[in-house]
Amino acid sequence: MMTPATVTLSPEDIARFGADPAGAFVANRTAVQERIAAACRRCGRDPDDVRLLPVTKTVPAHVLRLAFSAGIASFGENKLQEARDKSAALADLPVRWSIIGHLQTNKVKYLVRLASEFHALDSLRLAEELNRRLDAVGQDLDVFVQVNTSGEDSKYGLHPDALTPFVERLPDYPRLKPRGLMTLAIFSADVERVRDCFRLLRALRDRAASMHPGLTGLSMGMSGDYETAIEEGASVVRVGQAILGARPTSDAHYWPGLA
Ligand SMILES: *Cc1c(COP(=O)(O)O)cnc(C)c1O
Repeated sequence: MMTPATVTLSPEDIARFGADPAGAFVANRTAVQERIAAACRRCGRDPDDVRLLPVTKTVPAHVLRLAFSAGIASFGENKLQEARDKSAALADLPVRWSIIGHLQTNKVKYLVRLASEFHALDSLRLAEELNRRLDAVGQDLDVFVQVNTSGEDSKYGLHPDALTPFVERLPDYPRLKPRGLMTLAIFSADVERVRDCFRLLRALRDRAASMHPGLTGLSMGMSGDYETAIEEGASVVRVGQAILGARPTSDAHYWPGLA
């Protein structure tokens, strides 16, 4: 039996998350899970085949402690430095950290220490450095290869044409366990343009999986588009704001180049 966390909330915390953040997060997560199940029913999929990864960027560590005590135990973080600070503050908890954003090679050693999976593999240089650091500590790492399916300069990821040669090289990095492909769809109110990004990733996945048996997963879909992503085959949806509440920071902070 877990002891509930005792955390003092500041007025800013209460303004952002309400007086009972854990209660709000759990209710939000239940609502998202119901929408996932409904989306699965619409397209004849099993809801157990879709993993919901809560994205916790910008949510302070002491608030995440409350989330954890309410049963939310996987946290997706976009920036390594932020994940490092939070994992240090929550070192007493068995949190599962997923790094879902672009990584610089000089940060690889920190990722290896804390992350159980990485969703933004997008260069051979990074693969090389990850493999080297993992090998030094005798660990493997689940990875998703990020592809830029929207053609926007602001998005990281491999060009779709670069995927096949990239996948051919993956066996050179045996510490990396490829689990699938990842993308961020275009930010657009036009659902069909968003859907095209997910469809492209699925088609690329079909080709990649024929070359590498591990590359079956599809990490795609966020708060605004996860139902469309599920209809197009998502196996992991990365959902932040629909569970943890709206972020105060502009998304341009996370995706440089975005207006
Ligand atoms: C922030 C983020 C998400 C989640 O976005 P929400 O709008 O909060 O659901 C998903 N994937 C990546 C890579 C992110 O940085």
